[in-house]
Amino acid sequence: MTDCLFCKIVAKEIPAEVVLETDRALAFRDINPQAPTHVLVIPKQHHADAAALAEADDGLADDVLKAAHAVAVQEGVAEAGYRVVFNTGPGAGQTVFHVHAHVLGGRGLTWPPG
Ligand code: 5GP
Ligand code: ZN
Repeated sequence: MTDCLFCKIVAKEIPAEVVLETDRALAFRDINPQAPTHVLVIPKQHHADAAALAEADDGLADDVLKAAHAVAVQEGVAEAGYRVVFNTGPGAGQTVFHVHAHVLGGRGLTWPPG
């Protein structure tokens, strides 16, 4: 997609602090971190949200989840615990419509979320 912010990050047209890259997924630090570790994990292929990713039916959702866990291990938050969030739709706070998992950790995380 030519007009998608995260597609532009995949294409290296917009800079990002990449922490992990696989053949089908990319992980980079959130520009406005909400926790000491706040990394966004995306499929390189454009899908608007988690529902579209789930329907892709080619193992891509699996790749994104595995990359999210690899990021947590790499960031040193896996043992203490971390949160993986897919805001899905405007009512849930999604603002960028290229599906992304937020990987949050490095501090205590309360429940329920806001
Ligand atoms: P959403 O609200 O869609 O769940 O999450 C979008 C996230 O993208 C937000 O946490 C926001 O801080 C992050 N974000 C927005 N623009 C950029 C950008 O240009 N670079 C990076 N690294 N993160 C961004
Ligand atoms: Zn995109």
